[in-house]
Amino acid sequence: MAKQDKPLSLAKEATGLGSEYVNNIPYYLPLDEAVSLTLNHKLSCEVENIRLDDAHGRILAEDLRSKVNDPPFDNSAMDGFAVQYSDTEHAPSTLAIIAVSQAAAGDETLSITSGQAVRIMTGAPIPSGADAIIPIEACSIDGHQVTLNQPSKPHFIRKCGENIRQDEVGLEKGTYLTPQAISMCATMGYATIPVIRRLKIGVISTGDELKPPGEELAYGEIYESNSYGISGLVKMLGHTPIRYPAVHDSIEALRNQFDLAAEECDLFITSGGVSMGEWDFVRKLMEEEGDLVFWRVKIRPGSPPLFGHWNGTPMFGLPGNPVSSHVVFRMLVVPYLRGSIGTTYPHDQVVHAQLQTKVRSTTDCLTLRRVTLKSTPEGFMAEQPKHQGSGNIDSLSSADGLTLLKPGQSGDVGEQIEVLLL
Ligand code: AMP
Ligand code: MG
Repeated sequence: MAKQDKPLSLAKEATGLGSEYVNNIPYYLPLDEAVSLTLNHKLSCEVENIRLDDAHGRILAEDLRSKVNDPPFDNSAMDGFAVQYSDTEHAPSTLAIIAVSQAAAGDETLSITSGQAVRIMTGAPIPSGADAIIPIEACSIDGHQVTLNQPSKPHFIRKCGENIRQDEVGLEKGTYLTPQAISMCATMGYATIPVIRRLKIGVISTGDELKPPGEELAYGEIYESNSYGISGLVKMLGHTPIRYPAVHDSIEALRNQFDLAAEECDLFITSGGVSMGEWDFVRKLMEEEGDLVFWRVKIRPGSPPLFGHWNGTPMFGLPGNPVSSHVVFRMLVVPYLRGSIGTTYPHDQVVHAQLQTKVRSTTDCLTLRRVTLKSTPEGFMAEQPKHQGSGNIDSLSSADGLTLLKPGQSGDVGEQIEVLLL
């Protein structure tokens, strides 16, 4: 995209409903339009093979087909006796115990005929000729004989391939590797698996007032918190954050930092400096020297974000207010990463809830207020217990979800709303 020939200083005039353009850059867009614009600039993802021990939290890069049938052979689901069903339909029935079949010590040639039984352990192969397992609890044993005290059923045999057959796809490309998915990989015979290489995502906070936590605050300073939260979000998605020291409000310092991040990272994310103020240098720098794709999105909180490229590397400029930076990451950066990688993780979990407190909505934005949820027999109840300033990170850290109030929804007590779980 061509660089801007003049700054976006006219942007203030371009407020109101519907997408606007300022200097040919889409301005103040509905969220879905903003997300689809980012997806015209997907990241290219590489694949690497890793050991199963390192797979937790990674994203599968290819469909995984089972190398084996699971289970690989018919086996017993119970401790008991392998028998012929026809011998045991009527109780009591007494059979001769001819052998023992233990898990992993199975004798492939073991077989029974009518009148015989094999003592069998859970997971052990079924002897040929047997078609029922009698649980040990239903038997009495006397030397080499077993008596079944109740009629049997042809039960308790796990059939070869009943869970998954050889060559069947057990896990699809894009699967987030949970502990249970990792067990599935192992069951299918994989010691190593192809996953998406972790993306390197730069995190840059900006502002003269920011001090790292742990140091003494001078008058007018605050603790820098956004880069820690955003790095946590990056890790939660299975990628590697590169957290740079906070940058002062200076075009030159920002330019140098952007050059470095564009060189070292697949994507970088800034916070602060994207509003309309004189000191909002991230916006100014992107307007004048970057490739801006859009600026401002119709969400509250968090309407000032921008997206573009710096030296060919995609970047998101998030607002500085701590709640806004988290919310915009959740609503804009997460769908971008999902779409780039081809995964559904993290899945948007939305519940319906009834509002218990009045929530301030807007006429033109998706409104994302922080609410706590209570589960009741009448469904979820949503409450907004905290002051909702976009600088109040406590309102987010103590919340269960974000309201998805569409433009024009009332936000009144009693209204049925959708809540995106955090
Ligand atoms: P800005 O978007 O730069 O105007 O910042 C908006 C508000 O967010 C200001 O009150 C900043 O002090 C605050 N802020 C900006 N960056 C951070 C940060 N990294 N950590 C905590 N607060 C921040
Ligand atoms: Mg600032």
